[in-house]
Amino acid sequence: MNNRLYGNLIFELSKQGRKGYSLPHNNFGEYTVPEELCRAEDAALPECDELTVVRHYTNLSNNNFGVDTGFYPLGSCTMKYNPKINEEMASLPQFQQLHPLQPAHTTAGANALMTLLEKSLCTLTGLAHFTFKPYAGAHGELTGLMTIDNYHRSHGDMQRKKVIVPDSAHGTNPASAAVCGLEIVEVKSNQHGMVDLDDLERLIAQHGSDIAAMMMTNPNTLGLFETSIPKIAKLVHDCGGLMYYDGANLNPMLGVCRPGDMGFDVMHINLHKTFSTPHGGGGPGSGPVGVREGLQEFFPFVSPYYGNFAVMMRAYAYILTLGCDQIKMVGPLATLNANYIKESLKDVYELPIDGLCCHEFVFDGLKDKSTGVTTMDVAKRLLDYGYHAPTIYFPLLFHESLMIEPTENESKETLDGFIAVMRKIAEEAKTDPELVKSAPHNTPIGRVDDVLAAKHPVTTYKQLRNEQN
Ligand SMILES: *Cc1c(COP(=O)(O)O)cnc(C)c1O
Repeated sequence: MNNRLYGNLIFELSKQGRKGYSLPHNNFGEYTVPEELCRAEDAALPECDELTVVRHYTNLSNNNFGVDTGFYPLGSCTMKYNPKINEEMASLPQFQQLHPLQPAHTTAGANALMTLLEKSLCTLTGLAHFTFKPYAGAHGELTGLMTIDNYHRSHGDMQRKKVIVPDSAHGTNPASAAVCGLEIVEVKSNQHGMVDLDDLERLIAQHGSDIAAMMMTNPNTLGLFETSIPKIAKLVHDCGGLMYYDGANLNPMLGVCRPGDMGFDVMHINLHKTFSTPHGGGGPGSGPVGVREGLQEFFPFVSPYYGNFAVMMRAYAYILTLGCDQIKMVGPLATLNANYIKESLKDVYELPIDGLCCHEFVFDGLKDKSTGVTTMDVAKRLLDYGYHAPTIYFPLLFHESLMIEPTENESKETLDGFIAVMRKIAEEAKTDPELVKSAPHNTPIGRVDDVLAAKHPVTTYKQLRNEQN
């Protein structure tokens, strides 16, 4: 990659005294910054000319992988296409330059947008009210659980501190419950990958009056539609608990069914996933929380102001662009695409739970285990062929999880291309396993030691220099 020529860090390009800017003429006179506010030494900022800066960042951006550059089947993350009209709407200056503290009579348009978006979300989910304050799905989970906690306290049910979470749940579910001061009770999955009703009944009999809520996502983390939700909801409601829906998997439900109708009382939506905001690498998010009528008075204070407004704008633009009829196609098409890939690959990749999936599914590595080629190797080899890797080693139910979510936007040709490459890698695993095990070969950086990187992260340039010295 030619950015090597220019250095990987802007600091490596720095030449003392070099400048890429010129300040406008000073019309305001001289002002000396008080001594006590000044640094003892100048900050070690890079000094570069403008063109060097432009080339450096342009070359870095060319190394980026995004939905706009290639297929991105990252399971659980819903990396769907982000229509460009959403960006245009979100950058309208009338909205973009809003300040959260400006007088209410000047923000009628923004308020109207939030009201209309709330109405749309209520229609799509079957719940009655939403708050837009949470900044991401996990923040929404915390907000939702705090709402539930407030509800129980208002009834004097101080002992309701246990949350039932399936063993297949996304890690944020137990984490949010713990942050909320709640205790996690894990319910097992049965051999079909669904919540084990016998285990649930046993847990409810054991913990009954201590149960605050049960958290679920549907389709669940294996991409399977949990068919027993009405029954589960009844069990939980009968013991006085509330049902929380992790809306990260709302995409395949769009236009098909609604969490509110299934018996969920509180949920969050990852607007950045289901309603299309670019969100790779921890980008902007929004995790609005919806509740059944009557629960809105228990919303906690989780952040000042109104949430991530630009993400709401994108979501609303997306909903309006599709309209009532088209939005009903999102879930079915996402489901069709996932099943097409699954069925086309299940003779070479291990499918631990057969049958119809929803928008995503999980393989347990290659079918032929004798080659020694792991899920990590397959994921790395995919990079050589220009694909983003699927989610790997999650969920934790299998040793070699490979979780694929194509989303609804992809053409049959794109899916066929991906299937062909996945089959090719399975073939390479047999004929030339070393090639796969040492991948990637075509990327600017080869295989990194992720254990070392996780255990001893070097996050600053200075540290890097010290370790080299
Ligand atoms: C993405 C995801 C979350 C967390 O959402 P963030 O917006 O990343 O905080 C929670 N649960 C599931 C199932 C998810 O896929």
